[in-house]
Amino acid sequence: RAKDEGKNNYKFYDSNRNSDVEEKMEIKNSLRRALERDEFDVHYQPQIQVETGQLIGMEALIRWHHPKRGTISPATFIPVAEETGMIVPMGEWILRKACAQNKAWQDAGLPPIRMAVNLSARQFGHNNLLESIRRILEETGLDPQYLELEITENLAMKDESLPTLTELRSMGITISIDDFGTQHSSLGYLKRLPVNRIKIDRSFIWGIGKDTRDEAIILAMLLVAQRLELSILAEGVETEEQFAFLQKHGCDDIQGFLFYRPQPADLIQKVLLDHLK
Ligand code: C2E
Ligand code: MG
Ligand code: MG
Ligand code: MG
Repeated sequence: RAKDEGKNNYKFYDSNRNSDVEEKMEIKNSLRRALERDEFDVHYQPQIQVETGQLIGMEALIRWHHPKRGTISPATFIPVAEETGMIVPMGEWILRKACAQNKAWQDAGLPPIRMAVNLSARQFGHNNLLESIRRILEETGLDPQYLELEITENLAMKDESLPTLTELRSMGITISIDDFGTQHSSLGYLKRLPVNRIKIDRSFIWGIGKDTRDEAIILAMLLVAQRLELSILAEGVETEEQFAFLQKHGCDDIQGFLFYRPQPADLIQKVLLDHLK
């Protein structure tokens, strides 16, 4: 009996594994055609300056509307896109879309804001990155001061990233470190790198009012940012309590559901218009 049970368990485990693999395979295959089938969309999440309450920027976040599965989270498909290399054309698409949208808002007379776009490691390592960014800025006519690129700590830490980052900075593009505090890194790179901004990961923000260790880490990040003259943004702010804490301790900007969720361009345009009034 024990043997049978073992066998059943094994079978159960095995078929589960298979369906995971199948699911990943299916995502991989449909991802390949998603661009040409126009299944991607960009949502935008506003960023608010704490001191003034002004809307100062947006983050562009990709959305995939799969014809059968509905909306698939980037957390699921970005790693697959990285693995297959699809992230390169996909990343170029989102960059062009976000820059064009930002320029269109400016041309419509809305107050100019910065547009932040996430860059993945594979995209960053691709040797056409600089050329592609230059071309997109030229084609869309967006002034580079209104573009921000978000990179991860792991990427920032690599020596090979330095020349590219330096070049992006010299073009006038803002560089920010995303999910700050979550990866294997030393703080030393902040002094070496041409970085303008850090984004405190939302896992720390959740701890405000609940875990004094999270609060201590946030305070340390705020201090480092202030002393190094970097601007600092808190991600994933959902409650008034979190906001009050960040305001009290001098956080520059915030982004989170407390103010706005990521939304499609037409809805965000209404938000921008409201801010003009
Ligand atoms: P991220 O760059 O750290 O983006 C912030 C994520 O936090 C977004 O999730 C956003 O919807 C979510 N968020 C914002 N405010 C709140 C809040 O108050 N509460 C909670 N619970 N969540 C909040 P999303 O859009 O699902 O994206 C997940 C991740 O996927 C992103 O994390 C980023 O790493 C990646 N990603 C998204 N779009 C792109 C893209 O175009 N290119 C690349 N390379 N990666 C992307
Ligand atoms: Mg980001
Ligand atoms: Mg983040
Ligand atoms: Mg991230």
